[in-house]
Amino acid sequence: MGAADLVLPEDAKALARAYPLLLSTRNQHKIKEFSEILGEAFPVCGLGVIPGFGEVEESGDSFEANAALKAQAASVLYDGAVIADDSGLEVDALDGAPGVYSARFAGEGAKDGDNNRLLLEKLAGTPEGERTARFRCVIALAVRGKDVAFFDGSIEGKIAFSPAGKGGFGYDPLFVPAGYTQSFAELAAGVKNQMSHRGRAAEKLRAWLESRGS
Ligand code: IMP
Repeated sequence: MGAADLVLPEDAKALARAYPLLLSTRNQHKIKEFSEILGEAFPVCGLGVIPGFGEVEESGDSFEANAALKAQAASVLYDGAVIADDSGLEVDALDGAPGVYSARFAGEGAKDGDNNRLLLEKLAGTPEGERTARFRCVIALAVRGKDVAFFDGSIEGKIAFSPAGKGGFGYDPLFVPAGYTQSFAELAAGVKNQMSHRGRAAEKLRAWLESRGS
């Protein structure tokens, strides 16, 4: 569904003023990243505001489907706009894997280090020119159980031959954005946020929220 098809039950900006946007996650890193991007006009809170809210199973086969599942589930319990993002890494030499399985590439409960090791193993022998990849992010916005809009963002890059850097999370130590020689984990957080898949999708969300309120 495109943003143009929407009928919000109430003006999105008024909603966001009355209630902070609820980000359907308990990941403090994501809450901070979204807060920084959306700014003071659209304060964000996390799932801590819904006591007892359980985990939403990410059973969709696309980033969009998983983002929608997470946003819808929380939005039936929250009287305001709920956003959820789903993201991951697509590696061309692996036909787009790990994709929606990015968090559990090396198995359920896998740690970032396990996933990164497996990725390097699978790409062993793959030359630099064929290590192209991208991070993708889809944000879903739902109000009272219904999908209202989707916003996407991506960043192209390459998978390095070994991890570098201590910042960020996930595949950051292995992902070198196009035009750079440093990995996401080596770049300053502000630099990453400005160009990242999540940053780009969140920027589209911010512009949309602003346009709805004008
Ligand atoms: P989710 O959107 O929280 O489901 O993220 C899925 C997985 O994709 C994460 O656990 C990471 O492995 C990977 N991922 C998503 N965004 C990033 C990023 O910005 N840097 C590194 N890894 C990421």
